[in-house]
Amino acid sequence: LAAKPTIENPKGAGVSCSPEPHVLLNLDQGDPMAFEPYWRKMGDKCTVVIKGSELMSYLSDRRKVCWFLETELEEAIKRLHSVIGNAVVDGRHIVVGTGSTQLYQAALYALASPGGPDPISVVCAAPYYSQYQEETNYLRSGLYKWAGDAHAFSGKDGPFIEVVTSPNNPDGSIRKAVVNGPSGHQGKLIHDLAYYWPHYTPITSPADHDIMTFTFSKSTGHAGSRIGWALVKDEEVARKMTKFIEYSSIGVSKDSQHRVAKIMGVICNGCQDFKSDHNLENFFEFGRCLMAERWETLRQVVAKNGVFDLPKFPTEYCLFNGDFAESRPAFAWLKCNGDREDCEQFLKDHKIMSRGGGRFGSDPRFSRVSMLSSDEVFEQFLNRQAIFTKYSCLGE
Ligand code: PMP
Repeated sequence: LAAKPTIENPKGAGVSCSPEPHVLLNLDQGDPMAFEPYWRKMGDKCTVVIKGSELMSYLSDRRKVCWFLETELEEAIKRLHSVIGNAVVDGRHIVVGTGSTQLYQAALYALASPGGPDPISVVCAAPYYSQYQEETNYLRSGLYKWAGDAHAFSGKDGPFIEVVTSPNNPDGSIRKAVVNGPSGHQGKLIHDLAYYWPHYTPITSPADHDIMTFTFSKSTGHAGSRIGWALVKDEEVARKMTKFIEYSSIGVSKDSQHRVAKIMGVICNGCQDFKSDHNLENFFEFGRCLMAERWETLRQVVAKNGVFDLPKFPTEYCLFNGDFAESRPAFAWLKCNGDREDCEQFLKDHKIMSRGGGRFGSDPRFSRVSMLSSDEVFEQFLNRQAIFTKYSCLGE
């Protein structure tokens, strides 16, 4: 098996095939460790020093709708979107959150409040990101409730909220809202654009929706900073989202906001200074090569072992990269071929932890594996795929 390109080893030379079936591989979560080698190579470029006397106040700027948003972060977010071209920022309110997880809940609160006699239904087309259901229901809110697959939703003549994840987690598809009520009535929409970045998918136009959420976790791999942001058209909705965050955590870590602003600045400089083909100094170019190589190798081993099917993606023109490409999603949505009915269990039998289709409102013949693990784990995963060849040859 070939190794993926790294910044030190751009051609991806030399890795031996040594399956280690006794080691448990955790590909259940999408912990984005794949990008760590890039940031290691960046050395001190992103180092932030914060003195003991700095960033002490709860407040950032009282005049802003989101009064705990640091100006440095606001400017960095606007710059990043304009360099990448993946979202309209002009005239939008930016709300910062502790990850886009908090912003999802803030958006539900904002769209559902003050609320009526019954909680408003929240839907998303299956297969949907498994956390939506859990986050929507865990507090048994009187404002909103999870109503499952948007395709099967029967309450479209009343108020509802539809979540549109594009590219989608788990299957990488590009999506639009699916529910159409009487005379074209749509619900209130939340667009979760966590993966609308050029290393995962071609950027076909700047996204322009009422509420769009993004996360630093998946754009750069810094999940531990716990920073997400929402671009919100309507001021009242942005105010209510801010209120939710005020109630739940009185703002968002300023230390993190400054670290993120710094890293975003380094990325933008890299994009502008190194915007040439295969320049691995440019973060998105590095990420694109890494993801493309991972997907290519995975497709090769999957084709060889014949045990799974993988989704196919259309080729689109990417405005950021200036070329035609396929998506290279952060997750692989594996479908077991033949009469294997439980893909998660099948992988578990080979000591691979994945997340089964049922969690995404889908068929258990599917299971989701992360494509963002560390190099080491991804290599072991590929090597273990090679063992499946033996199983399929034996007809097991
Ligand atoms: N939305 C989607 C579609 C995701 O995949 C994730 C992370 N797995 C999130 C939101 C939450 O990201 P975070 O809270 O780390 O910003």
